[in-house]
Amino acid sequence: MMTNPANKPRRHFLGRTGAGTALLALAPGVKLVDLTLAKDEDEPASDETRWGLLVDADRCTTGCRACVSACEEEHALAKTSRTQLDPQWIRKVDLVDESNDRSVSIPLMCQHCEDPPCVEVCPTGASFKRADGMVLVDKHTCIGCRYCMMACPFNARSFVHEEVTGQKSYSPRGKGTVESCTLCVHRVDNDRTPACVESCAVDGHGALTFGDLNDSESTVSKTVRSQPHRELRPDLGLNTGVRYRGV
Ligand code: SF4
Ligand code: SF4
Repeated sequence: MMTNPANKPRRHFLGRTGAGTALLALAPGVKLVDLTLAKDEDEPASDETRWGLLVDADRCTTGCRACVSACEEEHALAKTSRTQLDPQWIRKVDLVDESNDRSVSIPLMCQHCEDPPCVEVCPTGASFKRADGMVLVDKHTCIGCRYCMMACPFNARSFVHEEVTGQKSYSPRGKGTVESCTLCVHRVDNDRTPACVESCAVDGHGALTFGDLNDSESTVSKTVRSQPHRELRPDLGLNTGVRYRGV
């Protein structure tokens, strides 16, 4: 049975990275980051929380890429060469309802599935779901096989083909590994909202609401309870943490 790194203490994580597995090439000053811990070693992520994101398509503007730009800046996702493919942690998608010609523009990112197919197929346990619902990649044990990319029904993951520069200490990246939206775990663990959510609010759209779906008093929880919404591909039964209104 696959173990969940969210339950492993820090020393095991660091021990594993030093045991000859494929190591991420870290830029000078970039530290190993243990994503399994919510705030510090004494406070692991808890399943009392389920982080979620509600996208309101009625507020999302066609052509606006504020969320995409914020994500790229937050995680230093800029291309390093002309040949490199764009990292796709979040992208804008335009959908048209052919029955009435209504079109919507929505951001699409990792849906942070409760039953993530990417985790299911990962041979090393590098893809894992934290107890609070965040689906992450441990870059230090990812061997770049890309099984998770094939398993993801939302095309939410990217492969890093070339050396990366300008890495942020809180969001390590590396050639030969797979990556996807982290729900800005580094921010959330410090009581801040994800960068895309913040930028959408600053731009005056307020199309993204982030919070704890298990907290009946949170805005996201109240909105999900009171207004119609859906998950993408509900037929797959993944119980995604990202939900959509107006789609
Ligand atoms: Fe995994 Fe894709 Fe689901 Fe994200 S959207 S948890 S990458 S299967
Ligand atoms: Fe990018 Fe953070 Fe938004 Fe995910 S939550 S799309 S990592 S800005």
